[in-house]
Amino acid sequence: MRKCFLSVSVCLFVLTSFSLASFSKHIVDYRIKAKLLPEEKAVAGEEILTWLNDSEQAISELQFHLYLNAFKNTRTTFMKKSKGVHRGFKLDRENWGYVEVKRIQIKDGPDLISTMEYIQPDDGNEDDQTVMKVILPEPVLPQEKITLNIEFYSKLPKVFSRSGFFQDFFMVAQWFPKIGVLWNGEWNCHQYHLNSEFFADYGIYEVEITVPEEYVVGATGKRIKEIKNEDRTITYTHYQEDVHDFAWTACPDFVEFREKFSMDNPPVDTEMILLIHRSHLSQKDRYLNSLKNGIEFFSQNYGPYPYPTITLVDPAPGAMGAGGMEYPTLFTSFTFWWLPKGMLVQEMVTIHEFGHNYWYGMIGSNEFEEAWLDEGFVTYSEIKAMAKYYGKDKSMFDLPGLKISDFALQRAQVIASGKMDPILKNSWEYFSTGSYGINSYSKPGLTLLTLERYLSEEVMLKIMKTYFERWKFKHPTSKDFIAVAEEVSGQDLGWFFDQFLNSPDKLDYAIGDIKSEEVKEPEGIFEGEEPMAETENVTEGDKKAKIYRNEVVVVRKEELAFPQEILVVFENGEEILERWNGRERWKRYVYLKPHKLKYAQVDPYNKVLLDTKYTNNSRFLKKKKTSVLKYALFKMFRFQSFLTFISF
Ligand SMILES: [Zn+2]
Repeated sequence: MRKCFLSVSVCLFVLTSFSLASFSKHIVDYRIKAKLLPEEKAVAGEEILTWLNDSEQAISELQFHLYLNAFKNTRTTFMKKSKGVHRGFKLDRENWGYVEVKRIQIKDGPDLISTMEYIQPDDGNEDDQTVMKVILPEPVLPQEKITLNIEFYSKLPKVFSRSGFFQDFFMVAQWFPKIGVLWNGEWNCHQYHLNSEFFADYGIYEVEITVPEEYVVGATGKRIKEIKNEDRTITYTHYQEDVHDFAWTACPDFVEFREKFSMDNPPVDTEMILLIHRSHLSQKDRYLNSLKNGIEFFSQNYGPYPYPTITLVDPAPGAMGAGGMEYPTLFTSFTFWWLPKGMLVQEMVTIHEFGHNYWYGMIGSNEFEEAWLDEGFVTYSEIKAMAKYYGKDKSMFDLPGLKISDFALQRAQVIASGKMDPILKNSWEYFSTGSYGINSYSKPGLTLLTLERYLSEEVMLKIMKTYFERWKFKHPTSKDFIAVAEEVSGQDLGWFFDQFLNSPDKLDYAIGDIKSEEVKEPEGIFEGEEPMAETENVTEGDKKAKIYRNEVVVVRKEELAFPQEILVVFENGEEILERWNGRERWKRYVYLKPHKLKYAQVDPYNKVLLDTKYTNNSRFLKKKKTSVLKYALFKMFRFQSFLTFISF
């Protein structure tokens, strides 16, 4: 069902109930008028931006992101690195994208366009125009505001990387001149890179979107007004506070579904808006059900979803490059009309992207510099949510004869990865896109799961809740998360984070050796009293039993160290659980017992999820049998010894 309108030429809904008290400090206030020009594949825009100087110094230069200029030619920083390919989708060389700033005028003051200059703070690539600065005639004083009127024209690329069009589908993202973040007294305004997402300040967005009347529109925030214009266009106004970006989408082939979502504990009251392409209607319930699961999971585990709407966008077939991306209160997922129920990629992407409303939307970390604080936290949460709703061992593939969990897939990536980068690194400076992916998504996801198993699920839940509650609508860094983790757990976790965030190395413990040898009575010539047998105090019942020297060697095979538990099991069923700090390269345990060993296992309760090789974690005592190879080597050794002997 396409959205239909009342037949009156003008209909106006002004929804006055903004239930949100202000959560964030409003550094920015954007009032934007945007007009979609479907023929030109472009948006004409006017933006009134009010910016608060929340620093303690006077500021006489402003910096802006002009993200769409990443798609302008083959020499931009994004294009040089990507070579026009992102996540497997390719640039269309007939459809470049760019944003042209036509005017940037201080309210009741001069146009700053003549002072405008492109800058390249990250790589000095002078062909890159994704960041600009303008010089103010007079500085903005601390705690004062400046208002600018900006006129711009955004030409959208054919979508292959998040933003753009495909036929009459439009994903309008990273599309307007957007002020950087004045952070710790300096502009933090990075270029548009292949391997990085974004960073921005919180504030208010009120955006009027004008489209031809047959287009169905979705956007960040709540729709507060819609006006049918005389030129067969419609203007929708969306409003949202406490967000740090604004994205919208338009397509005549969207079918819109709206459904309330409410829960009592914690209290959540929001509206789910699904914009699904009509060719995917068969997948509608999968979208809505997984979105419900996402809202429930994140609300229960971290804090209630606070916004009045959440919009799920299903990109048109052919526009998959727009899929799987997050924006405040709006995200894109993807599906195929033929996607079997047991392939849960649609559910996973929906839950993942919804989850970004927490670790990207409300926790506003700097993704250019610390991507793991978003993607890693989302991956951690997604693995847990997928296991909860779709089954621990089949949360990604639940097909006859093929059951694989999301966790297993993430772990497989960590195992297969190289050791090129640590988790903590500027996003655009990783060795490769693959290394960015591993170190921002799966490895930090597994790192947080390992921390959870180490500290207990209860403690970890408290850490995550405390971190979310304390840092939402702010710009926390890794240090802030570590401080919360240490405070809540009451433990020094420096050893953990130092290693896992800063080292590219891996973790692997193994049972190196396990043997049981019968202990013989002492033999030979002794002065004075004959020594006691090693086994004197080891008896079984009254009869003198055979005594075995049982030996287990645990080995740290890779650079990273983690405390280990070692389960030692004897033939008679006796079990001993050892604890080792795991720091040395090896540790030997010796037991004199009237029984032989049966087996030994490091990490028997599977707590250390970052251990990259489980197959060497346990070892059974082998029956003494000399293999042919061993026998041959032994003989050769004897022969070499003989040669050595006769050569002197
Ligand atoms: Zn993500």
